[in-house]
Amino acid sequence: MLIAYKTSHSLNTNIIDSVSIDSLIFSVKDLSGEQKVNKYGINTVISKRQYNSTGNLIAENYLFEKGIEFGYNTSRQNCQETCNNIIWESEGTLYSDSIVIIGAHFDSYNLDDPDGYMNLLSPGADDNASGCAAIIEIARLLKNYKPIYKMKFIFWDEEERGLYGSYYYSNLAKENGEKIKLYINLDMIGWDNDNDGMMEIQFLDTNTSVFYATQAIKFCNDYHLVLLPKLRNGEAGSDIHNFWDNGYSAIGFSDMIDYYSFVHSQNDLIGSFNFDYFLNNSKFALAIIMNNAYDVKTDVTDNFINDKLSLYPNPATDYLNVITKSEKSKFEIYSIIGKNILETNNKSVDVSHFPTGIYFLKSGNLVSMFVKY
Ligand SMILES: [Zn+2]
Repeated sequence: MLIAYKTSHSLNTNIIDSVSIDSLIFSVKDLSGEQKVNKYGINTVISKRQYNSTGNLIAENYLFEKGIEFGYNTSRQNCQETCNNIIWESEGTLYSDSIVIIGAHFDSYNLDDPDGYMNLLSPGADDNASGCAAIIEIARLLKNYKPIYKMKFIFWDEEERGLYGSYYYSNLAKENGEKIKLYINLDMIGWDNDNDGMMEIQFLDTNTSVFYATQAIKFCNDYHLVLLPKLRNGEAGSDIHNFWDNGYSAIGFSDMIDYYSFVHSQNDLIGSFNFDYFLNNSKFALAIIMNNAYDVKTDVTDNFINDKLSLYPNPATDYLNVITKSEKSKFEIYSIIGKNILETNNKSVDVSHFPTGIYFLKSGNLVSMFVKY
């Protein structure tokens, strides 16, 4: 249950209900050229956001002006040549030197016109106006609240060219000793043609990303989001790699678990979106952000960690994640007839080869049950 806020300044968890599909769609249409942008002195259709195109520059200005409008400390980070990231910041009231970042690339790509010479459209509605729109909506809803951690909303440039923008940012961050508590990457979150709600959470099992990935799944359940998150270990093909490479905790959202055939084409348009799915993914990202960076009463996080031994997802199909604060780091898995099957120190247990059935995981004197499905 999500209840009780620490102080009157705390963020009301009901804010999740305020995420608006209309706002999300509006931002996607603005960025994908499906409607004329008529704001911030811009009066044009953004037909592409490919690097070094006029549309890329207009999108960049659009995002810059929006950050100013929302009241964030807004800046443009020039990486090299034509590559500019747009950064919106809010100072942390408690942990000012530790940063939570949510990022999405705003450039687009058309495989049939990689250099833009043929002047084909490159709308990139799902890839990745969807991720940008979610960040815009999250930032809009959080703009009147002060985070306890330093919060950054970042729109990366030139991801499609080779993850350029995030490469520059994350390397510089590492060099400057920037403390990043968590980076969340959104890249393609609107496509779900079979309506199964399945989405991918990318994580890396060699650092604390695994904690945030399993925590995310807990939030998905707590907020009753109609999604089916699947964990994917160490492979994403997006800006998140640069954060992993620099040793930072990072998790990523993607809908590519069902292959999106319109990716990098003229047909990547909002018409192919599943709006419920898009809305739920955006709510999901907000839940993670507000619980990790804002003064939400942290019942959710603390309870489930103190709560002995928790297993997610349950039922599990590929990886079973163990969440515990117990000193014991050895986990034993038993079958329903009490046969010891596995002993491990890994908090992310590969159960993909287990036969379907009921199992018990034991750590010290704590035992939890899980289902392999
Ligand atoms: Zn992308």
